[in-house]
Amino acid sequence: MPPAAPDLGLLLDVDGPIASPLTRTIAQPGIVADLCTLLAAGVPVVFNTGRSDAFLRAQVVAPLLAAGLPAGARLHAVCEKGAVWATVGRDGLGEVQVDRALAVPPVCAEVVGGLVAGRYGEAMFVDGTKRSMATVEARTDVPAGHFAQAQAAFDAELLAALTARGLGVRLGDRVVPDAGGQCPWRIDPTVIATDVESVRVGKDLGARRALELLAGDGPLPRRWHTVGDSATDYRMADQLHALGHPVTHVDVRPAGPLPPVPYPVVRDRFLRDDAAGAAHLRALVGQLA
Ligand SMILES: [Mg+2]
Repeated sequence: MPPAAPDLGLLLDVDGPIASPLTRTIAQPGIVADLCTLLAAGVPVVFNTGRSDAFLRAQVVAPLLAAGLPAGARLHAVCEKGAVWATVGRDGLGEVQVDRALAVPPVCAEVVGGLVAGRYGEAMFVDGTKRSMATVEARTDVPAGHFAQAQAAFDAELLAALTARGLGVRLGDRVVPDAGGQCPWRIDPTVIATDVESVRVGKDLGARRALELLAGDGPLPRRWHTVGDSATDYRMADQLHALGHPVTHVDVRPAGPLPPVPYPVVRDRFLRDDAAGAAHLRALVGQLA
């Protein structure tokens, strides 16, 4: 008889609900143990992050292995917003897959590196572990406001430099097509980083990869919880809903209006970020039969 479909699957943004936005590590007690408990109970878990596989390996997979990842865990990592992915087993992160069609041209890393080597290096550093994107991240040794201030100027200079090199790039509602009228690349600023990426990547692509990865190792869950701290994290729930999967989105942002979406959204009244992520996992453990 084929195995029964799991009742619940988890699709988890990492920075915010799992890793502290301050330390960029798993800082909440309980998160690792509760993930292991849920995995041991047959709950499939897929991380859906803009981070690199190297970050996932060091900051998320290593603590899970140290805690004793259960045999038979259905655990996958979708990185770089869907351009990179791997399956996690008791030997760690498996073979890393990259969709080369989604990788930015090498000139993007050159331009980003040049800007950070100049005046922007006091607020940010280049993430050298990305396989498909060019990324700068906020330094953790300067106040957060420092990065926010520098980021807007950096993003504008980056747009000017990339389009001067002939690339078609968008930044927010500014769209600068290439000579052929195309705009295949995007500058995406977030709270702690700016990514140069393909316009085809995103948390929605990550959700489709998650479904493919889970279809390869067992039955799909009957319902989903997606968890995130950004407006763009709703795209994972949007995508699952559009494909007919029942989904509830858990928004761990501290404030702001909840968007009108055609599926349930929950938010803790008091907790935010990884504290809210930890509380949600703990509640799910409590609901295990
Ligand atoms: Mg996040």
